[in-house]
Amino acid sequence: MSSRFLRYIPLASFLALSLPACAQYHSAWTVTPSVSVISQRADDPRIADAEEAVHFWNRTLEALGSGFRLGPVTRVVQPVSQSALHEFSGLVLAGRARPDNTPRELLQLPGNISLVLGDSAFISAAGPFVGQNKRLVLIRTATVPPLSLPNVTRNLIAHELGHALGLGHNSDHKALMCGRPAECRPALFQSEEPRFFPLLPAETDALLGLYPASWKPLTR
Ligand SMILES: [Zn+2]
Repeated sequence: MSSRFLRYIPLASFLALSLPACAQYHSAWTVTPSVSVISQRADDPRIADAEEAVHFWNRTLEALGSGFRLGPVTRVVQPVSQSALHEFSGLVLAGRARPDNTPRELLQLPGNISLVLGDSAFISAAGPFVGQNKRLVLIRTATVPPLSLPNVTRNLIAHELGHALGLGHNSDHKALMCGRPAECRPALFQSEEPRFFPLLPAETDALLGLYPASWKPLTR
């Protein structure tokens, strides 16, 4: 065995430990996913951010010529266990989120995409990415930084929806999908101007690969 090969083993091990969540991305929807925005209060200002983020993705998909769109958005006011949100966020970060270990009450939330506006300080997350018709998007509290900073929440929600569509992370600090293991954190989305951060060309290519112009929902 060459010493050159041996030098790469620690790096490979490091990457395997650092990228577990990303390995689960790149799975396309086969249905037009309905989106339920689930808040704890009807006057939660993040509901508008979530609707903006859905429109951002549908505008992006239309501009790319994709046949895919996120489905209708429904507003739901429903209590959700904060401990279940913390538990699932931890599973996603560890790269271990699956339907069979996801808290049942989260899987039972309405919508193909259940976008939960949480009230506590877990790490926002999306998953699981196995199984075709259910993905969770969990958003942490916006009463404290970084989500209380201007322009951050709409981009954070768009970022997590990007995962729900099948995109992983990049390491470009000026890009929407920048994330771990790169040192990108939500505070980088801060801006006095309301705007969405851009996708990279490789990501628009990946989106069209997952959802080409000919994309149609599977009929049963
Ligand atoms: Zn991410």
